[in-house]
Formats: sequence, C-alpha cells, structure tokens
Amino acid sequence: MKALAITPGQAHTARLVDVPTPRLEDVPNGRGVLVKVLQVGVDGTDKDLHLGRYGQAPPGSDFLVTGHESLGRVVEVGPNVSGLVPGDFVVATVRRPGRSIYDRIGMSDMTTDETIYERGISLLHGFTTEFYVDEAEFIVKVPPGLKHIGLLLEPMSIVAKGLTQAYEIQRRLKVWQPHRAAVMGAGRIGLLAVLAMRLQGLEVTAIDLTPHPNPKSALVEDIGGRYLSLDATTLAEAAAAYGPFDLIFEATGSSAVVFEAAHTLARNGVLIMASGSKGHRTIEVDSDRFNLEFVLGNKVMFGTVNAHRGYFEQSLAHFARAELTYPGWLARHLTHPVRGLENYGELLRLLFKADEAIKAYLMIDESS
Ligand code: BGC
Ligand code: ZN
Repeated sequence: MKALAITPGQAHTARLVDVPTPRLEDVPNGRGVLVKVLQVGVDGTDKDLHLGRYGQAPPGSDFLVTGHESLGRVVEVGPNVSGLVPGDFVVATVRRPGRSIYDRIGMSDMTTDETIYERGISLLHGFTTEFYVDEAEFIVKVPPGLKHIGLLLEPMSIVAKGLTQAYEIQRRLKVWQPHRAAVMGAGRIGLLAVLAMRLQGLEVTAIDLTPHPNPKSALVEDIGGRYLSLDATTLAEAAAAYGPFDLIFEATGSSAVVFEAAHTLARNGVLIMASGSKGHRTIEVDSDRFNLEFVLGNKVMFGTVNAHRGYFEQSLAHFARAELTYPGWLARHLTHPVRGLENYGELLRLLFKADEAIKAYLMIDESS
C-alpha cells in the first residue's frame, strides 16, 4: 500500500512510498486492531518534519511515514479486544510507552526517557497511509455523532492535557477561581483552547497576528471570545485593557511571545507553554522584572506535551458539549480537505501557506 514519507533531517523530501499492508497478527496477544485510514490532518509539527528540523525514522528504515492526527474506521479486531468492533470510528493516540515509571502507568505523555516513540513523528511510522494496526490500548472510539469532527480529537487532546495540568497545579491555591483567560495565537491549537475555556465559562481574549476580521476572529467571536490582533494593539495594551490574565494558553510557536505573555499574568496566575519552537532564536529578556513578578505574584509557567488516552476521552466530552452549546462550530475548523494520498503536494502547499487554512487534511478514503 501507499504511504506519505519523508527523510527525517532533510528538508522537502515528501514522497509516496510502498509499505507492506499491516496485519492483525503484527500486534501480539490477540490485542491488535486493524484500521482503515479515512482522514489525516497536518499541524506545526508536520511543518517541522517537512523542513527537516524534527523527527526520526524507525530503526532500519531510511524514511518516516508521517501523520499523527487521524480518523479511521475499524476493519478487524483481535480475539482479546473488547469494546471495539468492525465499523467503529476511531482515533489513535500518538505516543507509545518507553521505560520510565510514567510509561508503566499509562502516562507516557509524562515520560522522563530521552528516547520518545511517537507515531508519525519519532521512531514509529504514522498514519498517512491506507491502513494501520495497533494495540487496542491506543485506539479511542469516536461516537458516530462526532465522526465529522473526529479528526480534531488529537489536537484537542493537547489542549485538554494543558488545561487539566494547569488546574492540577492550581490546586495549590485551594480556592482558585480564574476569570480572565488569554490565548496567544488563534491557530489550530489556540482556537481549540478558546473553545475549552469558553465551555468553562471564562472570559477569553485571543491575541493573534492576523488583522481583524478574518475566519479565525469570526470563530473566536461566535463563541463569545474577544479577538485582538497585534497590528492594532500591543500585548501590554491588551493586558491593560482586558487583563491581567489568571490563565494563559500560549500556542503561537514563537518563543519570544512566551516571555512577553508572562508579564501579562495576574497574581497567582498560570501560563501554559504548549508550542515548542524548534529553531535557535534568542532574545533579551527583562530578567529582573520577570523574576520579581513571578516571586511577588506566586506565578507559575509550565510546559506541556502530548496526551495520553484519558485526555482523548476527556476531549470527546468537550466535543459533545461543544456540539450542543455551539452547534456546527467545530466543523468550521476543517477548512481545506485535499482528496487522495497522491495529492499530498497540495496538502503541503496549504500547510506552508500561513493563514489560508485553519486545518488542511487529506481525505484518504471517503467511502464512510
Ligand atoms: C503532537 C504530540 C507530540 C508533539 C511532540 C505534537 O504535534 O500532537 O502528540 O507529542 O507534537 O512531538
Ligand atoms: Zn500535533
């Protein structure tokens, strides 16, 4: 079967390769699930993969099959799989366990290992192909009523983890009641963060580079958020008018924004860093001010990566609630479908053309 592959470490090497069709028996103990891939999305991590800045091929392979955001349909399950049957719509988690104590309790998203195993990213082939097989543990069933937005489940899981971790950390405050929240960057992840925060009843300000109005600002405003663009205001002005912020979700991919955003944090506030930047940028920071504000304000900033299956399940609950609260809103993220694996060139064009697409994705099989 065909798969979309790259040579990790080299820029612009995307090509179709032939790989063996997976079989149920590839997974031990009768725990395999064979899945037909319907859709695969791309995000900032894929950009870095295609630029040769990130990713590793599986041992013994000179290419990596990309794709970590997927929606598929179960074809066949092993004898020791329960809760999944052929025809179910499913999304696979991305990271696979290593050796640390966190990996052993189902929290490989918190691994302390140096080596990371992630499908479509690091040492394991991904989902931009016709079929995949995996252990049932890593396959999440999507209710049929949510299949039209199932492709957004993996990115939502990243948001769900970040926010859950923030609330966990804030238990230190016993009575923490956030009111004002900010999302830096109204892109693919930022918009989902706005949604999760609005569902929690927070006052949300999204701050982005794209001038207002645009499709992203419309999405933010349609669920009661505020959209500000940096051509019309500075971060400091935004914070003076609508902050300081109890909770900040940073999703721009620009490391400089992290430090600027930190100055807009309220006392006892928490800043979530969710966009790892893979370049070598350095900036000068106001370190005395930064240090003093954090000390005197009991502030926290922390990093978050990946999501274990619990966050995928939590995201399904967010999606169900979103569909009832803001019907049709999530489907508006799926702006740019590209039909057929062979048209991956168009997918990459959309991925690299900033702002045109909120979510570009391949429709690999349209029969369901
Ligand atoms: C993926 C995560 C992954 C991270 C780092 C993100 O794009 O969604 O699952 O852990 O990249 O590789
Ligand atoms: Zn991703």
